[in-house]
Parts: sequence; structure tokens; C-alpha cells
Amino acid sequence: MRTPAGTDCRHYYEDYNRGRAIQECRLIKANRRSLPWQPGDCAKCVVPAILRANAGRELRVDLAVVKRWGLLRRLRVDAYCLKHEIEVASAEAGCPRCSAEERGRA
Ligand code: SF4
Repeated sequence: MRTPAGTDCRHYYEDYNRGRAIQECRLIKANRRSLPWQPGDCAKCVVPAILRANAGRELRVDLAVVKRWGLLRRLRVDAYCLKHEIEVASAEAGCPRCSAEERGRA
């Protein structure tokens, strides 16, 4: 679904049918440690790019809105490779062990 920022994201949901006015990020909503999502969060979110870069890989991504110094909202992304069962330091780069396996196949 297209987010308020104009990107496609499978975690975004909206429903304006029959008088409803629902907008939500289901990834943030699923994270109990996160502050609530706001539509402006999508403009600075890297999750759609991470999912595109890791298409076909078993990468789980968690997203949280946190406050830095009690003031600034920022998005924190945590990634975990389900195949190798390891935390992934750079979600954009993906799982290093998956990458090594793919290089070995090339
Ligand atoms: S905040 Fe990120 S993950 Fe959530 S709907 Fe927006 S683009 Fe998607």
C-alpha cells in the first residue's frame, strides 16, 4: 500500500471506506516498546528500502519510534536473520552470512 510519503510499503494500512479514517503502520503497531506511529514517520523510514534490498532473504525487521534526548523522534530499525539466527548489524546491507553464501554461488 502507498504510504503518506508516496512509497510502497507492505506494513502500511489505511482505510477510508464508509466514514472510516484509519491510517497505521502495522510494523510499529506490533512493537510494544515503540511510541505511536505518525504519518510523517514514513518520510524518514528506511524499511521499504531494506525490504527491497533483501528481497528473497529471511530477514525479520523490527521498527520502533523512540525519542532521543527526550525530544527528537527517530526510527530505530533492528534486523534479525531467521535463516542463520543472528542479529544483523546493518539492516540495509542484510545478513553477512547470506551475502557470503550468495557470493559463493555466483
Ligand atoms: S513507517 Fe516505515 S514501515 Fe511503517 S508504514 Fe511507514 S514506511 Fe512502512
